[in-house]
Amino acid sequence: MRNYYIAGNWKMHKTRSEAAELAKTLVAQLKDGKHKYLVAPTFTSLETVGAIVKESNVLLGAQNMAAEEQGAHTGEVSVLQLKDLGVQVVILGHSERRHVYKENDALINKKVNLALKHGLEVILCIGELLEEREAGKAEQVCETQTVKGLAGVSAADLARVTIAYEPVWAIGTGKTATPEDADAIHAYVRKVIGKLYGADASAQIIIQYGGSVKPDNAAQLMAKENIDGALVGGAALKADTFVPIAKFS
Ligand code: PEP
Repeated sequence: MRNYYIAGNWKMHKTRSEAAELAKTLVAQLKDGKHKYLVAPTFTSLETVGAIVKESNVLLGAQNMAAEEQGAHTGEVSVLQLKDLGVQVVILGHSERRHVYKENDALINKKVNLALKHGLEVILCIGELLEEREAGKAEQVCETQTVKGLAGVSAADLARVTIAYEPVWAIGTGKTATPEDADAIHAYVRKVIGKLYGADASAQIIIQYGGSVKPDNAAQLMAKENIDGALVGGAALKADTFVPIAKFS
């Protein structure tokens, strides 16, 4: 059995008490789960959720972090503060960060290197816009985001990086890439990793798919050769939909 990694991105949803309730249910229902699991609540719920998932098989993730360690950066949250809360993983380069908040590859790369330097795991999100896919540029966009996002990352540190392929047109829209289309991009990204880091790294890197993953499409996606897990948005907000994805097999 491959090592699958199922992550829930709660985005800007849930108060602390709502987050605590979901976290408690997930810890109980996933305790016999066979895969690697993560929940990424909003910053304000990290401490509350962290206390609940501590010593469970569910990791604690943040959805973003600053590119600087500390200083005059009003409104930002630093890697040191995340570590202080027990955060183990940070999601970087999510399409909402790229396209709504205009983060570019250079900024995302700075964050990737900073997170790795401080011992966090990283989920690096990549993915093309609809117009880029329609122009036949999906592979090129994903290659560029991967190469630039990983600049300066050593082969040893790559072991703490997961790639999440999330076609932007499939996020929160109910449109899922077909398992075949997703697998083709995953295979391409795996080749890119092979060119950068060699065959072992290419075989070992976990590449999650994200974009309207639901209980009824998770197993078909995960059955594909190059799909090693999921980064789940909307369906991660309820145990009723996240648990069946997390336990797709
Ligand atoms: C996401 O935002 O990472 C995501 C994949 O969202 P959804 O599952 O709602 O499409």
